[in-house]
This record gives sequence, structure tokens and C-alpha cells, in this order.
Amino acid sequence: MLPDFFRGILRKLSPSKAPVDLDEQARQAFEAYNVVGHLLYDYGNSAVLARVVEAQAQPVCIRLAVVLDLDECLVHTQYSSVNYDYPDVMHVALSDEEILTVNKRPGVDAFLSTLAANFDVYLFTSADEGYANPIVDMLDPCAKIFKKRYYYDDCVHENGLNMKDLKCIEMTQSLAHVVLIDNNPLSFLPQPSNAVPIPSFFDNMNDHALAIVLDLLLTLRHVADVRPCLDQVFHIDQVLQDIQIPTFLTEP
Ligand SMILES: [Mg+2]
Repeated sequence: MLPDFFRGILRKLSPSKAPVDLDEQARQAFEAYNVVGHLLYDYGNSAVLARVVEAQAQPVCIRLAVVLDLDECLVHTQYSSVNYDYPDVMHVALSDEEILTVNKRPGVDAFLSTLAANFDVYLFTSADEGYANPIVDMLDPCAKIFKKRYYYDDCVHENGLNMKDLKCIEMTQSLAHVVLIDNNPLSFLPQPSNAVPIPSFFDNMNDHALAIVLDLLLTLRHVADVRPCLDQVFHIDQVLQDIQIPTFLTEP
């Protein structure tokens, strides 16, 4: 039985297409997200990156561009002000006065502060600006963390898919020093070699994915090009070919 909030995600992913069999499509999408997201935990238990980095490490630290997804990556949002057991929530008012209840992923504040001190940090969400901005304003109240924010209109829209093309990011780095952290495998399609997958977050108080991501990013500062490293760690290109992407997301 899939939680209702996941169906909401599917509607956000493909608002113009009504799935014929939502349960089956949601099950497929849920599995695809899980397969890709759990690659991060596999990485956390392996020594692959250490070996790869050792092979191409350079003496200087590169200031990476870290591009962050929002929903189910940093937070999980519900369209209601109902309180429940999750301990770290923000209540965010939209311009139409609707109140959002936003669960903050464990460690997100410290994660963002550390990122801002070490990297150039960008937000890239496939959500609308009107929805995302009030949430991001609360995560970054002094506007010192994110150098720029990108939204739904900045995504590549093709065959019902919302993909994130990192070439749209205004930055000085080449793609050799850019990573995209996202829970949605479809976001990675334009540049799978820059992908850092993260499991979807909803309300798991014991989630520790951000700590694994931070460890990975700090290691990647010492490589000449993140792409061959990430290819060897995650094999996202191959995984994207192997997973079953729900047909309603791919059919024209
Ligand atoms: Mg997301």
C-alpha cells in the first residue's frame, strides 16, 4: 500500500497526464526512486570512492558547485497545518495564505551551513517558484546559502518529464566540478555522470543521508573531474537504463 503523499508527488511530476492505473504507476515509480536512492547507502558502505579519488586526486581543493533538489531531498511538505509526530517542522504560509507543514530532513540546517562554507550552493527544484520560495526562505533566512534558485520553468520539459539540465546554472565551474543531489532519478537524465542520488525523505527521524552526502562532497573536492568518480560509484547511466520508468512519464 503506497502512502497518499507519494501519489501527490506523482501528480506533481506529471500534472498534465492522468495515469490510467495510479496504483500500478505509483508502485513502479516508488520502486524506481528506491532503487536509485539506495545507491547512496551502498556508497556509504563501500570503499569505491576512496579508491577512485586516490587514482585522480590533485593537491588543491576545488570549490564544487553543489546543486540541491528541494522536495524529499531537504524537506517533505504537506498541504495542511496539521501537526503530527515529526519533531522538526516549519509552518510556511504561501501567498494565498495556505499553510504548509514542512518536515525538515534530519541535519538539514547544519548540512546547508557546511555546504555554504565549502561549496557554491544552488537550489534547483521542479516545483513552482510560488510554492518553493517561502520554504527556501525559511531554510536560508539570511539568503547566504543559495547563490541562485532555479524552478519548474528552468527544467527541461520533454514527453511529460521534468529534467534538470545543469547547463542552465550560472556558474564559473565546468561540469567537471558540478554535482546534482536529487531523489528523483528522472532529474539526472541530461547529465547522469553528475548525479548524486539520495533516498526520498518523508518523516524518518533516523534518516542520516545528508551526512553521507556531505562526506562524499568533501571527498570530491580533491578530484580533477567528479564525473568519472560518480560514474564508478553510482553507475547512474546504467541504472537509469535498467529501471522501469512508469510509462505515463515517458509516453508522448
Ligand atoms: Mg525531489
